[in-house]
Amino acid sequence: ENEYKIALIGSTGVGKSSLCLQFARNRFSERYEPTIEDYYRKVAMQDGKPLVFDIIDTAGQEGNLTNLDQLIRQASGFIMVYDITQLQSYKEVQHFYDRVLHVKNKSHLPIVLVANKCDMTGQRKISYDQGIALGQKWDCKFWEVSAKNKTNLETVFYECAKIIRQSEVD
Ligand code: GDP
Ligand code: MG
Repeated sequence: ENEYKIALIGSTGVGKSSLCLQFARNRFSERYEPTIEDYYRKVAMQDGKPLVFDIIDTAGQEGNLTNLDQLIRQASGFIMVYDITQLQSYKEVQHFYDRVLHVKNKSHLPIVLVANKCDMTGQRKISYDQGIALGQKWDCKFWEVSAKNKTNLETVFYECAKIIRQSEVD
């Protein structure tokens, strides 16, 4: 009942697996490990009640689109991820967004927009304002995060659970 299925979506290398790993297992690896597809489960307590995160780690273009579509169907909320150091990932997250809405056949969904690797300030290509602008376009919340140093990490997962809960009430 208090269980939330959240999928992380975005281009290869933006840090989806790292965000899952850091959030669910408190681990971070500097190495790049291609994702096939993975599920993480994290149980937390909120107001004395268990809160279960069922996290779906997807593979962007590493996998095939049919597979991605299946994972999208399983999720009720989405963390859309780009990398502040990769302009291409900012462009591609918009295609992924269209894909998610198309597959779920909805015009609005529980979505949080996330710009990862905010610790890499020296290599920044996408400004904070560009993130804000995209969040406004999608009518969703936006955060800059870091899987490496955990900036805003908990916030985005809890926020995603919260908006899933709200969407179920409506
Ligand atoms: P995925 O393809 O989206 O699953 O991306 P990965 O999680 O495999 O991450 C790709 C690379 O980016 C790896 O080398 C990670 O160590 C690195 N990485 C991921 N998140 C961060 C972050 O927040 N900061 C920094 N500096 N590197 C990160
Ligand atoms: Mg991955």
